Amino acid sequence: MNCDVLIVGAGPAGIFTALELIRRGSPVGGPGGGAGLRKQKKIVIMEKGSPIEKRSCPKIHTKKCMNCKPYCHITTGFSGAGAFSDGKLSLSCEVGGDFPDLIGRPAAQELINYTDRIYLEFGAVKEVEGIGNDDNIKDIRRRAIKAGLKLVDCPIRHLGTEKAQELYRNIQGYLIEKGVEFLFDTECTNLILGTSRLQSSVEPLVRGSPLENSVCKGVRAHDVGKAEHFDVFAPVTIVAAGRRGADWLDHICREHDVVHESGTVDIGVRVEMRNEIMEEVNNALYESKLVGYPKPFKDKVRTFCQNPGGFVSQENYDNNLAVVNGHSYKEMKSRNTNLAILSSHNFSDPFNQPIAYAQKIGELTNMLANGHILVQRYGDILDGKRTWQDELERSSVQPTLSDAVAGDITSAMPYRAMTNIINFIEALDMVVPGFASAETLLYSPELKFYSNRIKLNSSLETNIPGLHCLGDSSGWTRGLMMASAMGVLMGRVLG
Ligand SMILES: Cc1cc2nc3c(=O)[nH]c(=O)nc-3n(C[C@H](O)[C@H](O)[C@H](O)COP(=O)(O)OP(=O)(O)OC[C@H]3O[C@@H](n4cnc5c(N)ncnc54)[C@H](O)[C@@H]3O)c2cc1C
Repeated sequence: MNCDVLIVGAGPAGIFTALELIRRGSPVGGPGGGAGLRKQKKIVIMEKGSPIEKRSCPKIHTKKCMNCKPYCHITTGFSGAGAFSDGKLSLSCEVGGDFPDLIGRPAAQELINYTDRIYLEFGAVKEVEGIGNDDNIKDIRRRAIKAGLKLVDCPIRHLGTEKAQELYRNIQGYLIEKGVEFLFDTECTNLILGTSRLQSSVEPLVRGSPLENSVCKGVRAHDVGKAEHFDVFAPVTIVAAGRRGADWLDHICREHDVVHESGTVDIGVRVEMRNEIMEEVNNALYESKLVGYPKPFKDKVRTFCQNPGGFVSQENYDNNLAVVNGHSYKEMKSRNTNLAILSSHNFSDPFNQPIAYAQKIGELTNMLANGHILVQRYGDILDGKRTWQDELERSSVQPTLSDAVAGDITSAMPYRAMTNIINFIEALDMVVPGFASAETLLYSPELKFYSNRIKLNSSLETNIPGLHCLGDSSGWTRGLMMASAMGVLMGRVLG
């Protein structure tokens, strides 16, 4: 198969690339060319998972994670991890990744504003959370400063899980109508490299090396569940494989000398408490973005992905790793609020495999929970004891992740990360009285694998001409809006 633009991964980064290409007048599918007409581009999007209407998590019926094979529907399929996310679009370039460092803050904010308008066109709610309520926000900020924490301003457009699916379904319909070709249930396994006179503007490959003058010509792939492989050729290949593709991309980078640096990995917990505790912050901000550098390690620790009235969820990676996450619906509400507390870790010589490090912590935690997510009451952590199921049942905070296993997360969490989390929770208690209550629930493992940062030029091209990388798998984004905005920039570059 041949095409003009090949996108691997139908997450927000991939689909906003195609959307922007079409919006900029690069319609696809037809013959194109001719006097005064721009050549029409043939866009192919290859996606390991299914179209959005076929994505469904059996847990709704079974009440427990079935560890679906060949892939988890929560993270895989059209719109990637976005479809089952709670659809919180962060409208500030201060949140969602380091992409602004690549292109500059004003350019990043302009892209976010533009991308937000596309979301609105496809049905996003008009209301924006986290603005107004000035007096309440001032009070919260005052307490945060006293506690040594920084409150980051970030307006949020909250789609809600059910609305996010509807919106992405509209985008899927639009792309199909405009002629974008989808290869669903198709997994990219490797890149096809050839030789060319093209030189990379990122970093010329070492003279005399077997990869000198390498260029990406396309990818090798197979239908999920089938052994035989086939090739797809394109002058432009865009890898937008998301967090779940991070591990695969790490191997690809090492195999093909794609220049990258190992970055940060976030290790943390998902915290859940009653809405009553979080009410003031939920009402004023919807999501509180608080950052601190607690003693003694002074690592960056932050809150992330807050879900008022939300549900704690589980996502599974291909290597059977079960990690915890959270989301909230627009209409259906629980009695609890959940949010992540993430502690950032970097490594230097001689160890540079942050993804592998975090995976080991995840595996150990899963092992202690018999393949599930572990949950422990905060008071039990301070008392140095595990939590028992009957103690959990007596608590006023009932876990919304019903198949989480009561136990001891401290047996698997490294000392440094655990200390950071405990000290941060104590500081948060000054901002949100009751946060550090004995009954507050901590779920583990909450891990964010966005560690490999691919070196890119201003066209988002890697050191291998013809190969671009976007979204969470590029290491430059960490959220829906930033990944979508990076896709828009890719579309502009190519359009
Ligand atoms: C439960 C949950 C809730 C979240 N809530 C929010 C939120 O409220 N707000 C927010 O900003 N962010 C949220 N996030 C994070 C957000 O979803 C991601 O940051 C965003 O989706 C990243 O977009 P992406 O396009 O880079 O990658 P993804 O959305 O991960 O998409 C990548 C796609 O590539 C496909 N793929 C991977 N490898 C291959 C391969 N080898 N071949 C073919 N296809 C492949 C995957 O199947 C996937 O569909 C949430 C994530 C989860 C899991």
